[in-house]
Amino acid sequence: MKKSILIPASILLTTLAQFTYATQSPIAIAIHGGAGTIEKSRFTPEKEQAYRAKLTEAVEAGYAVLDKGGSSLDAVTTAINILENSPFFNAGRGAVYTHDEEHEMDASIMYGKNRQAGAVASVKHIENPINLARLVMEQSVHVMLSGEGAEEFAKTQGVGLVDNKLFDTKHRYKSLKRAKAKMDKAKKQNKNYQAAHNELEVEYKVGTVGAVALDKEGNISSGTSTGGMTNKRYGRIGDSPVIGAGTFADNNSCAVSATGHGEYFIRYNVASDICARVQYQGKTIDQAGKEVIHNVLMPVGGTGGVIIIDTKGNMSLPFNTKGMYRATKSDSSPTYVGIFKDD
Ligand code: ASP
Repeated sequence: MKKSILIPASILLTTLAQFTYATQSPIAIAIHGGAGTIEKSRFTPEKEQAYRAKLTEAVEAGYAVLDKGGSSLDAVTTAINILENSPFFNAGRGAVYTHDEEHEMDASIMYGKNRQAGAVASVKHIENPINLARLVMEQSVHVMLSGEGAEEFAKTQGVGLVDNKLFDTKHRYKSLKRAKAKMDKAKKQNKNYQAAHNELEVEYKVGTVGAVALDKEGNISSGTSTGGMTNKRYGRIGDSPVIGAGTFADNNSCAVSATGHGEYFIRYNVASDICARVQYQGKTIDQAGKEVIHNVLMPVGGTGGVIIIDTKGNMSLPFNTKGMYRATKSDSSPTYVGIFKDD
């Protein structure tokens, strides 16, 4: 007769816990609140403190999701919602104005586990565009929806539409007026639209929020949300909702969220170029990110930056502007917040 061997429950549970612990991935999150002409001289100590506090709040909220075992997608949307709900950043409540004195927002999200992605472009009445991008990914058969169609879809998902005025802020309105005055002056000097637009400083062309994260299951995600470019017209769409340009995630390489002059980020396919260098050339995310931001974009005049993460929890935050609002936290490093180049 066979003897059955009884293993005490406590030993079984300990072994199971050790196994679970051993297979758990490190966790990490990086966020950005846009790159641009961000210099210390433009900040009062109070303003700088307020930006740092908001970045800290967002990165720590995203990290808390990961720490509780939540998915990288949840961490990314949680962090981005906090930035979208703040008037400090060019997304949601702080979105810049279009030429017609409205706000048109773009957002996208991607999941590295299966390369699922969702994006919305030119939405005007969505309080948190990143959440709608996620619904497009999870609840539609499409990847990118735009304008009224995207808002029609939002209604089918129970997402209420809000008044475009919700996104009004005095500082962005002043910025629009300054941009228009500069364009008018350039036109009076007989410069065509493109030349006049080229004369606008980088601060009118950048600003966005984004997050990348790695969860306990070893899956990476990225998300990006923006009001786009000040004084934009003709339904202009930037790189932020374009998968591969402003957002990319694949567990085989890396997850990237970009901020910068969108036209360049689209043309140079920035987010997926960085991950391709990691996957096919064996570069680290830091090498690949710096190559693209400094050696590819800089020589052609493409300004901005990216945040990158890989499945080991490495993070890199290269930018070629004067500053970039940014923050990171992982299970092996405390909260870091940076604004200026030398932070
Ligand atoms: N990339 C955004 C756009 O071009 C702006 C930014 O990130 O600063 O719409």
